[in-house]
Amino acid sequence: MEKVWRHLADRWRNERLEKITFLINDMQINFKRDKMKTMLTGLLLLASGITFSQTSVTAKTIKVNERRIENRILELAKFGKESGGGSYRVAFTKGDIEARAWYISLMKKTGLELTVDYAGNIIGKRKGKNPSLKPIAFGSHIDMVPDGGNYDGCVGSVAALEMIDVLNENNIVTEHTLEVIIFSNEEGGTIGSMAMAGHVTKDGLKQVSQSGLTMAEGIKRIGGNPDSIQYSVRKKGDIIAFLELHIEQGGILEKENIQIGVVEGIVGIVHWEVTVDGFANHAGTTPMNMRKDALLAASKLVIAVNEVIRSVPGKQVGTIGKISAMPGAYNVIPGRVVLGLEIRDLSAEKIEQLFAGIEKKASTIATSSGTKITFQRQASSIKPALTDKGLQQKIAASAKALGFTTKFMQSGAGHDAQEMSLLAPVGMIFIPSIGGISHSPKEFSRAVDMANGANVLLYTILKLDKE
Ligand SMILES: [Zn+2]
Repeated sequence: MEKVWRHLADRWRNERLEKITFLINDMQINFKRDKMKTMLTGLLLLASGITFSQTSVTAKTIKVNERRIENRILELAKFGKESGGGSYRVAFTKGDIEARAWYISLMKKTGLELTVDYAGNIIGKRKGKNPSLKPIAFGSHIDMVPDGGNYDGCVGSVAALEMIDVLNENNIVTEHTLEVIIFSNEEGGTIGSMAMAGHVTKDGLKQVSQSGLTMAEGIKRIGGNPDSIQYSVRKKGDIIAFLELHIEQGGILEKENIQIGVVEGIVGIVHWEVTVDGFANHAGTTPMNMRKDALLAASKLVIAVNEVIRSVPGKQVGTIGKISAMPGAYNVIPGRVVLGLEIRDLSAEKIEQLFAGIEKKASTIATSSGTKITFQRQASSIKPALTDKGLQQKIAASAKALGFTTKFMQSGAGHDAQEMSLLAPVGMIFIPSIGGISHSPKEFSRAVDMANGANVLLYTILKLDKE
């Protein structure tokens, strides 16, 4: 009896036990932590006739602070807020600069070792016990699209800070060094993470960003140095893993009532400019059977694209979102139509297969309508980025351990994790976006969902750290 008691007393002290369950003479008795001391003392006095057959213990679980996350989201939302209610926190503008300063001040309070790299990425390090291990990185972005929402990027950024606060409060020092990364100008083309992956070019730096400044000017404004941007490149293998918590920005999780999305990858995007050449002629004097109407052919193509994309199972999407008819008059049969075709999927091969199907249909439409249809692949295309299978499993297992429902899904939107996947295994956690609305002031995620996502992030980091 004495031995059992000693053992339990040790565990009570060392493992921050929250609950102990005893089976005493086949009767189950639970003790919560506040009653544990009394219970342990009482055990010493127990009569010898009791058979002490089985015990189980529940270790104290550490959790993020939901209210603190919500408060910080609301605080962050003030930067760039306009009197009309909208928000303007486009990268490099006043709102962005102020939000960054606010975030940096919070980072300093948590004791993070702070640097801003040459691309303007904010990096905070928390030293681990084992200096030979590569760091575990996590973060997101705090810039937004014009009139954007307060959750895109912000949830992952606030949660990253929350990780550090929670670990500090629980006196936990991880084996690996932890790195909080807030990427610069995500919405302007994942510029900060591109710089880390070594993909920012001299020409790219000359491009004018949404703020009106060139990328180079903007980076200078936020404390970076475009002339030395090559030194912000991280080597492959420098980081053991990069994790990003993000809002879904779509309506699947909410609709299916699922708490956590385990992201399998970020879709590739391919764009084609499609030109349909017919013959512009008098709309009054040309009989219907003598026309080469480019817009009519284009209309058939729009439907064909939808049919091809839907003809195979999967999550692929295809859109014609752009159209212009020339010359564009009431009384002229359109002679030329230019369309913008986009296909997105996790598999580059599938995108090619779907495109081949569209080309085939286009050729039939061209023949029957007397037009010529040509496709020009655009340079703006993005390759799919798959997340790491091991990290997917860790995220799913963490969510399961916390009692959350999960769904494996793809990200239809681009993220910094995409660029980071070129230099480290990446994992992404999604939480529901109410109404599936994003890039809008109406964007919203519930505090409980943000906390759920942050807890999954925390458990995934701790799991990863133990390996
Ligand atoms: Zn984002």
